[in-house]
Amino acid sequence: MHVSSEFDGGNIRVVDCKEANNIQLEIRRDRESGFLQWFYFRLTGALQKQCLIRIVNAGDASYPRGWEDYRVVASYDREFWFRVDTFYEDGELSIQHQPAYNAVYYAYFAPYSLEKHASLVAVAQTSPRARVIHAGTTVQGRDIDVIRIGDSADDRKICWAIARQHPGETMAEWWMEGFISRLLDGTDPVSREVLRELTFYVVPNMNPDGSFLGHLRCNAAGANLNRCWREPDADKSPEVLNVRRMMENTRVDISLDVHGDEALPYNFIASAEGVPSWDDRRQDLLDTYRSELMQINPDFQATHGYPRSAPGQANLAMCSNYLAETFGAFSMTHEMPFKDTADSPNAMQGWSPERAEHLGAANVEAIYRVLGKL
Ligand SMILES: [Zn+2]
Repeated sequence: MHVSSEFDGGNIRVVDCKEANNIQLEIRRDRESGFLQWFYFRLTGALQKQCLIRIVNAGDASYPRGWEDYRVVASYDREFWFRVDTFYEDGELSIQHQPAYNAVYYAYFAPYSLEKHASLVAVAQTSPRARVIHAGTTVQGRDIDVIRIGDSADDRKICWAIARQHPGETMAEWWMEGFISRLLDGTDPVSREVLRELTFYVVPNMNPDGSFLGHLRCNAAGANLNRCWREPDADKSPEVLNVRRMMENTRVDISLDVHGDEALPYNFIASAEGVPSWDDRRQDLLDTYRSELMQINPDFQATHGYPRSAPGQANLAMCSNYLAETFGAFSMTHEMPFKDTADSPNAMQGWSPERAEHLGAANVEAIYRVLGKL
């Protein structure tokens, strides 16, 4: 038997891999930082064996509550990801599985590789509605891709949508697939109407280095990008610095920053109610957006989420707060579960790429329904 993770997005360290019923592994920390939670590895040579795979340092994870009622995802073909029996006890996360093929992949959530990201961007640019823009480079010299969708005329409202500031939150890029493909669908009347009023700047992956390195939260320099918006640094957080510069040129009227939450089994939106400039107009937009999105996609809900910041107390180093305060934007942070939606569970897949894509596409329609208020 063999366990490996030396590939795009992989992360694991082998402690012991001699007996199928006692495979012991450890998650590596994000480099230059203490975060630890994302894993992605391949097991070979365990065909039809009753495997017990123990992640022995799961108790040291950044969000141990993330393991409660959580099930690991697995795939044989790296296309279809299903859940396998998982138990969390005494600081260890244990997977019980009998592989039906000799090679099987396991991960924290369905991975979204950097190669797949490159294909998403390349395909998008072949649409007459889209243009790919190089926004700058990462710490390790990778491209930061922005896809502009719609006209660049001056009189239009501007929507920025970004994902994977936290690279291990791969559901955010699955969400982006649904969002982008709907915007580019020339037969969709909703996107046609949205694009009459809005120009989109879409960053499907804010953190290509962290994605490739198999990180949960940080870039290659150990920066948590969603804490760098007030003072981005050319060496430590060029990803934010470069995108922020582009935003300063375009302005921002509405923004969506897409994430995953380790602990909460819900889709929800956090906004920027705690910024000093928050006003009734944006509160009304937020209330309307949430209720419309619930109607369009019942996997979304507005009952559970983060407690709102007290007035004036928002952390302005976070993207949504920064954009709300700097540009007066109607800014939202979209959160999806790693686990499943508690109100609408799916036993086979839990929360999945397919469901995240549907939610991304639904957001185009939610934007359509608030166009008059923007
Ligand atoms: Zn996040």
